[in-house]
Parts: sequence; C-alpha cells; structure tokens
Amino acid sequence: MNLTELLKENYGKSIKECSNEEIYTSLLKEAQRLSEKKKRPESKKKLYYFSAEFLIGKLLSNNLINLGIYDDVKKQLAENGRNICEIEDLEKEPSLGNGGLGRLAACFLDSIATLGLNGDGVGIKYHYGLFKQVFKNNKQTAVPDRWLTDNSWLVKTEKVYPVKFGNITVYAILYDLNITGYNNTANTLHLFDAETADEGIVTEGIDFDKSRIAKNLTLFLYPDDSDDAGRKLRIYQQYFMVSAGAQMLLDEAVSKGCALHDLDDYAVIQINDTHPTMVIPELIRLLTLRGIELDEAVEIVSRCCAYTNHTILAEALEKWPLHYLKEVVPQLVPIIEIMDDKVRRKIDNTSLAIIDKNNTVHMAHLDIHYCMSVNGVAALHTDILKNEELSGFYEIYPEKFNNKTNGITFRRWLLHCNHQLTDFITALIGDGYKKNADELKRLKQFKGNKDVLTKLLHIKQDKKKELCGYLKKVQNISVDQASIFDIQIKRLHEYKRQQLNALYIIHKYLEIKAGKKPSTPITCIFGAKAAPAYIIAQDIIHLILCLSEIINNDPQVNQYLKVIMVENYNVTLAERLIPACDISEQISLASKEASGTGNMKFMLNGAVTLGTEDGANVEIHQLVGDDNIYVFGDSSDVVVDRYKKASYSARDYYEQDADIKEAVDFITSEEVLKVGDKTMLERLSRELIGKDWFMTFPDFKAYVQTKEKALADYENRLEWADKMLVNIAMAGFFSSDRTIEEYNRDIWKLS
Ligand SMILES: *Cc1c(COP(=O)(O)O)cnc(C)c1O
Repeated sequence: MNLTELLKENYGKSIKECSNEEIYTSLLKEAQRLSEKKKRPESKKKLYYFSAEFLIGKLLSNNLINLGIYDDVKKQLAENGRNICEIEDLEKEPSLGNGGLGRLAACFLDSIATLGLNGDGVGIKYHYGLFKQVFKNNKQTAVPDRWLTDNSWLVKTEKVYPVKFGNITVYAILYDLNITGYNNTANTLHLFDAETADEGIVTEGIDFDKSRIAKNLTLFLYPDDSDDAGRKLRIYQQYFMVSAGAQMLLDEAVSKGCALHDLDDYAVIQINDTHPTMVIPELIRLLTLRGIELDEAVEIVSRCCAYTNHTILAEALEKWPLHYLKEVVPQLVPIIEIMDDKVRRKIDNTSLAIIDKNNTVHMAHLDIHYCMSVNGVAALHTDILKNEELSGFYEIYPEKFNNKTNGITFRRWLLHCNHQLTDFITALIGDGYKKNADELKRLKQFKGNKDVLTKLLHIKQDKKKELCGYLKKVQNISVDQASIFDIQIKRLHEYKRQQLNALYIIHKYLEIKAGKKPSTPITCIFGAKAAPAYIIAQDIIHLILCLSEIINNDPQVNQYLKVIMVENYNVTLAERLIPACDISEQISLASKEASGTGNMKFMLNGAVTLGTEDGANVEIHQLVGDDNIYVFGDSSDVVVDRYKKASYSARDYYEQDADIKEAVDFITSEEVLKVGDKTMLERLSRELIGKDWFMTFPDFKAYVQTKEKALADYENRLEWADKMLVNIAMAGFFSSDRTIEEYNRDIWKLS
C-alpha cells in the first residue's frame, strides 16, 4: 500500500501534513477495502457462531498485521516522522464483551477466517457495552462506555428484520464488521441494533428505565439483573439477537437452494453458553411458519445446533420463570412446552426436565436435549461435566459430550502485542509457527543457551519498561522496572480469588514492616471489573484499592512492595500488561474455572504460571512439566468432596491459623478504615470468616509457600529464563487455530 498516494487522494496532503485522525480514517477505509476483497466465496454449509459477547479489541493494527501490511505501513509512517502507536491510540476499543467468554468468541472468529472456513459471528451491537470503570474514593464506579464513533469498522447494511415480542415489535438493523484472517480470507461479524435505540434515556451513571424496551434494548451488555425488569430485559435482548439471526440464517440458506428439510446441509449453529439458547425454539417456530411439520422441525433444528458450556457455577446456568417467557416471547412458550413434553416422555428423570416443577425453564437443559453436540472448554472441565454436574445427561447422551480445550489467536496475543518477542522467535526458528503454532516447540533446542536466554530476559525487561512508562503516563504511578511483575487480570469474581492474592499482599506487607525484606522488590498488578450488582466483588476491589493507597505510600515498604489496580481493564490494557509479566496469577478454586484463556496469553509471552490445578492450568502443567510452573492448593476432587459433605468451616481456619487471622483482621484494622469504607470492609471480613464460599483459607498456606518459592527462583535469572523459554515453546497447543480445527473436525464439518 502506498500511504502517500492514499492520503493525497483522500485529502490532497502529504503524510507529514495529515493529522493523526486523517491518517487513521484513511487506514481504516483502506483496510476495510482490502479485507472486502478477501471475503471468501459463499459455499454451501456455513457456521453461525451465536454469542452475546465478542470482545474483539481494537482492530487497526490487528487487521494490518493480518493483511500483511503492518510493517510496511509502520515504515512509511516512520520515514515521515509519524508514529503508528499514536494512530492506534485514536481507535476506541469496541465495547461488545465482558471477559473470557467474549474474548474466546473473538479469537475464534480470527481463526475461522485464517483457516478459510465458511463461518460468521452473530451478536448484538451494544451502544455502551458493559460499562467503563472509573475509580473514585477507592471504589469502582460505572459510566457508559461510549465507543461508537463515526469512523467505526461497523458497516450498516440494508437488512432489517422484525422481531416480535409479546407487547411490541422492534426492528433489528444489521451491521456487519469484517474479520480479516491472517493472510487469508475474511469473514463477517453480524451485529444487530434496534432501530429505535435511544442513548438519551441513560440518566445517572449507567441507570436507565428498564421498562422502555424499544429504546433500551441494545444499550448495555448484561443489564443489572437484580430485579425483575432487569431479568426480563435480558430475555428481550437474547430473543432480539437470536430471532434476527435465525431469520438471516434461513434467508441465506434458502437463497443457496436449501429446501429447509435439509437445513443441516446449509447451516450449523454454535451456541456460545446459554445466552443464545432461544435460537433453538425460534428456528423451530420459523420452520413451522414456512410449512414444516413441528415434529420434523424439531428434528431438523436439533441436527443443526451445538452447545458450548462455559461454567459449572450453578448461579451462572441461566433459568427463567416460565411467566417471564410468556410475557416477553409468548410465541415460543408452546414450542418449549412441547419440547419439554417430548423429553418427559422419553426420560424418566424429572431433574433433567426443561421446565421444572416450579415452572422454571432451564436453558442449559434445553440445549443439551436438543443439540447434537455438548462441549466443555478444557479437559478437566469436560470431565467434571460428564462425571458430576451433567452426569445424568451424560448417561443418556454419551455420544454428544466432547471436549474442546480453549485457545487464543497468536496474531493478537503475540504478533501484535509483542513485536520484539515475535521477531526474536522468528530469528530463531523461522516464521512457520505463525500459521503452525506447534513449530514453537523447536525453541526447546535453545534450553540452556545463554545468549538466547539473555536476549529473552532483555525483551521482558523492555516490555516492563514500556509498561512503567504507560502507568506513569495514564495513572501517574511510579513502578520500579527492576521489580518482579506479578499480575492477576481477569473479571472480578470470588471463585477467581483476587481476595486470596489480597490476603497474601497483606501478609507480605506485615512481614516487610517486621523487617523481613524481599531480595527483589515485587509489584502486584490487578485489573478487573466487577458486575455492578455483585456486592462482594465491589468490596474486594475496594480492599485492593485501599491496600494500594496504604502500601504505595508507606516509605518503610514501598521500595519493596507496590500494589496497582489498573482502571477499566480491557483488551488494550491486556495487550500492554501480558508481555511485561513475570508471574501469571491463575489461582481460582480448583474445579471452578472452566478453562481460562488469560493463562494461555501469559504463557505465550514468557510468564511463568502460579496456579491451582484448575481449568487449562492442568494442561499447561502437563505440557511444561513440574519445573516450569508453580502449582499449589487442594485438588478439584478434594474441593468437590468438601462441597458435597458441606464440611468446610472458614471460622475454624481463621481461629486456628495465626497468619490467616492476622491477614483477615488487617482488613478491618484502623489503618485500612482510615482510607476505606467501614461498611464494605466489615462486610468483606464477615463474608470471609463466616462463609468463604470459594475456600481461600484452606489454600492460603500453600499459596504463600509456593509464591515464596517462585520469588526465590526468580533470583537465578538464567534458570528463570529457561522456564520462560519452555513456556513459550509449549504454548503452541493453545493456538485457537488448533481449537477451531477440532470444532470443525468433530462438530461443524465444513468443507
Ligand atoms: C483474556 C481476557 C480475559 C479472560 O481472562 P481469564 O484470566 O481467562 O479469565 C478477560 N478479559 C480480557 C480483556 C481478556 O483479554
């Protein structure tokens, strides 16, 4: 691409004369044009990946990399005294997701495009996404995340679909966004917006009138569901997405010659978690409207749909009161009742019913009975589904259950976020690994090679330095770049156990105060948003921010320990933090984290995992071996057993372990109360001592000991670099290209 000519054409100016905005806009349009040319030709069968979230991150650099023109553009800019980073900064990150689930969907679209498979995403165009996190008085506050600008990657299409609810009809306008694969074809993310959406109804923070459906339908992702109106709004949103998506899908199939009886030759639907479940009865309904008998429609749709389970947390498996559905989507209710009836006739176990005796509709049950595939997202997770959580279903449908260990796209999580490491790996083993991630294994030949290891340490140091500059600039925090960077970034949830990390930090702080100083200073970094209605999660953020204020301002301690919580954690921040990390905190309670994908991104960038035997950590452990990971804590078997027996008493641990007592008592000490909110801190302390549902206390001692071991091992820099090298070398398995090849081989069967 010749940028000089492009800008001359667009603005009649040279690169030097153009503003950053003008350059950004021209690059965006040009990348769109180039990816449009790469659109794959439609083939018969197509995958529709339905997801409530697509956490795609900024697109400019990623698209330029995937188009193969990033280096060239960067060079042309640099030759004219311009910096591509400043241009990237202008782009707002699309706010279309929340966490791992949405990020997975984004990685999958990248891999589907890269592998040249015929598959598109289907979702919602949220105006404000989840929310933008702002810290005030050591607390999280939420404001609308206004990301839509005139120059966006979204293109409005002519397509409009009516979506009929019980009380109103809303028109769904289709917006398309090109997803450019790596040096290959492009596919599309289809996002629906309500024609009548009205940003003007948002009042305080992220509050709005939840009853004004036509106006509020597509404003926010996961509206607060702590009341009836919020829960109903989620059903409105879900049906909006799947009804418009199903209409689009049928139109496309029919235009390719589908006779509807053979729909499964034209369409396969992956249901990402339970949010899009209503696509099943909706498609059945639409088929009957087009003249197919109901029984046959059920059979046809069941052959098309596949379900991915993302969690075993009971509270996250969606279930809706039948009367909500009767109000919001009355046309689906008779179909769901028939589907339930079919199940009851076949299966003599009411616990597996779709509609239970309290007239609650279990969305996951609907998926499992009426999908041809049910998959978990890591080996341990799938085993738990089969043997514990969904064992009743597994007995009936063993052939449906399969595992698809999650993955990440290396284009974003290595090529884009860590140019130095990418270039170094390429210099060592060539660039075949960019498309065939398994080739990273060839790095193992450099184990013990002092020159290679030294260079690896230099690159890590550069990334830490860059991060320090960034933190200084945006959060005005000074970080010692020679310190150990220990990072825990992920949604805030008690099962992920940021509170365990916080207790460690208190323990460490008190040790340093008592004169026991670490050999190398430690910087503990957090990033996390908490759902606004999730009270204890807010309290944990509050504790971390209070600790940050106390510790960072304590002259006795702050040259040895710092605590930082980055504001508004998102993909863009993840891209800066992960390359700079030494120790990757993956400390969920064993059995609770389905897979995790953050753990994979860290590993790929040469961080060493400190984690429990949970989710994909188990597979990381197997790949890198005992010497290259720090594993601690009770096993998933022990945890599952403890829940079954209801034998856990947090108070016993609190009373019997002096270290735990000391750390927990600190939460409500004078020192913290001085900078914090008494109600929040006392509530958190009570929750820990009285309940500790995610069992931080039993793992506390092992966590402290294992972390100390990691910190001590860090001192031997070359041995540590060897661990980094092995982690990078073994990360190939976690390429989402591998995951998608497995989905296609076992479930989608696209040619
Ligand atoms: C990868 C990613 C996640 C998921 O992190 P986990 O540690 O797997 O929970 C969440 N948010 C963002 C922004 C990510 O990039």
